[in-house]
This record gives sequence, structure tokens and C-alpha cells, in this order.
Amino acid sequence: MTRLFGTNGIRGIVNQDMNSTLALEIGQAFGTYLKRTTPRPTCAIGTDARLSNHMLKSAITAGFLSTGCDVVDVGLVPTPTLQYTVKEKHFNAGIIITASHNPPQFNGIKGTAQDGAELTKDVEETIEQIFFSKHFALSDWNEVGSFSTWNDAKELYIKGVLSCIDVTSIKKQRFHVVLDCGNGAGSLVAPTLLKKLGCMVTELNCELDGTFPGRHSEPIPENLTSLMKKVSETHASFGIGLDGDADRAIFVDENGSYIWGDKSLSLVGKYITKKTNGGITVTPVTTSTCFEDVILQNNGTVIYTKVGSPIVADTMKKNHAVFGGEENGGLIFPQFQYCRDSAMSLATLLEILATEQRPLSELIAQIPSYEMFKTKIVCPNEKKEPVMNRLVEEMKNHHEITRIDRTDGLKLFTKEGWVLMRPSGTEPIFRVYVEAKVKQQVEQLGTYYKKLVESFMQHA
Ligand code: MG
Repeated sequence: MTRLFGTNGIRGIVNQDMNSTLALEIGQAFGTYLKRTTPRPTCAIGTDARLSNHMLKSAITAGFLSTGCDVVDVGLVPTPTLQYTVKEKHFNAGIIITASHNPPQFNGIKGTAQDGAELTKDVEETIEQIFFSKHFALSDWNEVGSFSTWNDAKELYIKGVLSCIDVTSIKKQRFHVVLDCGNGAGSLVAPTLLKKLGCMVTELNCELDGTFPGRHSEPIPENLTSLMKKVSETHASFGIGLDGDADRAIFVDENGSYIWGDKSLSLVGKYITKKTNGGITVTPVTTSTCFEDVILQNNGTVIYTKVGSPIVADTMKKNHAVFGGEENGGLIFPQFQYCRDSAMSLATLLEILATEQRPLSELIAQIPSYEMFKTKIVCPNEKKEPVMNRLVEEMKNHHEITRIDRTDGLKLFTKEGWVLMRPSGTEPIFRVYVEAKVKQQVEQLGTYYKKLVESFMQHA
């Protein structure tokens, strides 16, 4: 069976694999699923600013209505705003039309459960089964769903964020912040939120534009050069770069230096576990050891998961975690909601700066540093399993390996650091990650394991 859902919903190029027929049938499949447990479900729907948002929203809305689900359109919103609205307004589900950080020709559909969290794999699989079977439970003519709009989602969300944060302490500092929304949906929330926190805001690419004229949407260093420059030019306290649907936030320190997501995740994790005197935190196996280092220092524990934010959020829920997130700037604050949230990330960072009374670069310098090496090897899907089996077999008796972890792929710990080899779930590639203290060790280990995967692949 073709997999419909990837790690983050369904994405594709508009009017090719992401088209209105697909959207209609996803609406019908999701509606059919909701009707199994709820007689008259209501689904909230929102979009980012991509040019195809109305086309896909109309089609998926028609799908829901045809199965007898009511639809409430909350308009243009960042993904976390839609998720929060679903939870707070007690909707039965939510849909956000967005392709996150993908280029403008893409769009996507992401579902939300009634608590605002991303759909679990089981639910996605059930919706997929209905989608492929085409057994849609269409309603009688007089039971078709109703449609309405609700315009207060952004206000509700901003109020919610402010209720979780020490607004008074932040306001006193009168921070100067450079904000780069990349013309994405964050433009609708982040500038207002920062102003409510008493910040002076220098805006970059904060005009909504579905063609993303300002920069590419993914907040990686090469896309944030203007932000880095602006922060140092204007002597701002720090800078913030958001991805297209504003669930992820990346920070730039007061000198204009890019802060890797591992470090900001660790900084926030450190602050929260210090405040809660320990507690459980959750992150995928790909995250740098610097996170574990600071969590353990503050009496916390770390649960490692497979890669993917829905898995992180679900594990957090089950274990009553105090904090969690990914190394790409996707931070999850359970006191607010179980999904990645850039507004909570930036508000929390402001609270940290107000509490610690030190520049961001100094706080980051206190987080341990590791060298990392990442590479990928093209590997046909059918060879992934034999290569993995061979690796597991080969590593069993390897004298330099102190521990083996099979949470996601194969993670090997040595005295120097760790190596993670995992086949991609969506592409025909095998990823190799290495982390250690010394650059030379990382390169040596990386080259060794890359060659090993390549040679096993040739003989698989
Ligand atoms: Mg995103």
C-alpha cells in the first residue's frame, strides 16, 4: 500500500500529487473516521499563506461536510495556533493546510487530534485504510455538515502563550529582537506577541507572501544570513528565524551567530528542569549528547525516541514529561500543548534571558559542545533491511562498542561518542550520524561507518 502520510502529514507539489481530488478524499476519509466515534463531529480548519491554500481548504472542507462533519474555518494561522484552538475550543479534530518549510510549489495537509497533538500513527493508518478503500460514509442529504468561520484563534493563542510566561520580568528588560518570519504564517502572531512582551521588534520578511520572496523557508544557516547580519548591525539582544508554518524557531545570538537547534533545545531543557527540579524530558536519538548532559546535571532524565515530532509528543504525554523537542528548533512545552511551538520557544527564551541576566552567547557557551558528522548513502529500499541486519550482526562482538541502542536504526556507543545508522522512512537513503568530542575522531568514525554501510550495500 502506498503510504499517504509522511513524518509530518501529507505533502506534495500542487496540482500534481497534492491536488483537490486528493484533498476532497482525505476530507471524506478523515470525516468517516471521526463519525465512527462521534455522532456529529466538528473539525477546525486553518491554512498558511501558500497560494493554493483556498483550493485545498475548499476541497477538504467539502469532504468533511459530505460525511456529516461540521467545519469551522479559523482562517490564516500558524500550525501551533490551529492546534491550540482545537484543544481549547474542544473541537473533535483539526486540519492545517501547510507544507511547513518546503518550497512554495508544495503544499500539504496535516491532521490534529482533539487535544491539539499531531495524529498518532494508528490513527493515520486507519484514515489511510479508509482513503484507499474509498468506503466513505457519506451522510443523508439532510445530515450534510454545516460550515462557519471563527476569527479569534490568533488572539486566543497569544493570550494562552502569555499566561504561561513571566510577562512582567520580560517587559522590564525592554529587549530588542530581530524577527525573521520568512514571509510565513508566523508573521500573523510573532510580531504581536513580541510587542506584548515589551520588545522593540525589527521585522524581516514579516509580510505574508506564499511565494516566499524573502528567503527559503527552512531556518538553516544559509537561509538566515540577513537575520544574522541585522542582529549584529542593530546591536539587538538576539534574533529569531521561523519556518513557514511557525512550529520551529531558530535563534541567533547578540553577535549575529547562528545557534544550532541542539543548543537551544538544551538551553531551554536546562532552564525547565532547573525550575521543576528534574523531571522527564524526551528527544529523538539524533539529538546531541549536550542535551542529556545538561538535563542530568539538573536531576532530570532523558527518554530517547524514534525520529519524528508526533512520536516525541506522544512519548511526552505517556511519561508526563516536563519538556521535549527536536534538534531542528521544534520545542514542545507540555504545560501549553503537546506539539512544537515557536511562539512558546521565543517567549521562553525571553524569560530565560530576563531571569539569567546574561547575554545569549554566554548562556550558550555553558552548554557542552560536541563535534557532529552527518552523511547519507543512496540505498535502494529493498536493500535497507539486509544492510541493517548485517550491521547488527557485525557489531555484536565489536570490542570498541560499549552499548547498542535499537530505538531507531542502530546506535552504537564507543568511549569517544556515538554512531547512528538509520535507513530513511521516506527516501531511498541510509543516514549515518557521528558525534564525539574531537573533530578528528568524528571524521574517522564517520568515514569508517560510511564505508561499512556502502560495502554491505554492494553485497546485499
Ligand atoms: Mg514546520
